[in-house]
Amino acid sequence: MVLADLGRKLNSALSQFSRVSSVDQEALDALLKEICAALLESDVNVKLVSSLRQKVKAKVKAALDTGADKGREGQRKNIVQKAIFDELVHLVDPGVEPYKPRKGYPNVIMAVGLQGNGKTTTCTKLAVHYQKRGFKSCIVCADTFRAGAFDQTRQSATKAKVAYFGSYTETDPVSIAAQGVEKFKKERFDVIIVDTSGRHKQESELFQEMVQISEAVKPDMTVLVLDASIGQAAEAQSRAFKDSADFGAIIVTKMDGHAKGGGAISAVAATKTPIIFLGVGEHLADLDKFAPQPFISKLLG
Ligand code: GDP
Repeated sequence: MVLADLGRKLNSALSQFSRVSSVDQEALDALLKEICAALLESDVNVKLVSSLRQKVKAKVKAALDTGADKGREGQRKNIVQKAIFDELVHLVDPGVEPYKPRKGYPNVIMAVGLQGNGKTTTCTKLAVHYQKRGFKSCIVCADTFRAGAFDQTRQSATKAKVAYFGSYTETDPVSIAAQGVEKFKKERFDVIIVDTSGRHKQESELFQEMVQISEAVKPDMTVLVLDASIGQAAEAQSRAFKDSADFGAIIVTKMDGHAKGGGAISAVAATKTPIIFLGVGEHLADLDKFAPQPFISKLLG
């Protein structure tokens, strides 16, 4: 079920609930059943869904026990609706503030993720995003593994009018990353984005390489680029990356496609890391800033 369908299902469950004549246990259970089924169909992890159900029940009970409903049906509905909204927000909000680049300082951002997840595209999108906001931005291509990686960076960075650094001959990604970051620091760039190699599987060499690049460039923020279409696998993938790359932010790509999106949401909870942007298309401007409350509000329509 794609995200728009999830929104429609949640919305329909809530509006059905708003029409019940009596807010009793049966009505609450029926509502929770529909909400949970919709989340599960969207690939949200089963444990998270079950925890949402328990928390909503506990919150509603606590509110009713203290008499917050003032004996009124309408108030009871508000209590239930608010508990559900808050817990949906909680799903996408680990309660951790992401790093915020500041001007006049060389903010180093390192992107990690499996090949094909949209890392290189996202690096350019990020550079464009910050450039538009007055940060002098650039990209370092430290992917020496995939033939054509530097060409891809060169083409997209040129198109985006963003400075870039890479090499056709150097085979050591750590050396390229270090050289690029040093060069751009000297040239007083504000945002230096380091694109790393992806690989198809979570191979140990990939992780070792990430650790070495990280030690060489000392990123202020490491971002995991996660493809929304991987579904349930997002949780295991993000855990594996967290163990070696210790990323501080997630960007979920391909949210415009047929992705369910729930898997990526589960990755937030599994790694307690905030989503900062959503990739919503192949164009350079297709990057939406992510914030938990507006995201859930929009999802519910
Ligand atoms: P990398 O191997 O992780 O560096 O992935 P790329 O940046 O080369 O992207 C792989 C493919 O995904 C390319 O065809 C991109 O155009 C596409 N892509 C990346 N981000 C998005 C997105 O947000 N939406 C869509 N529809 N396609 C994307």
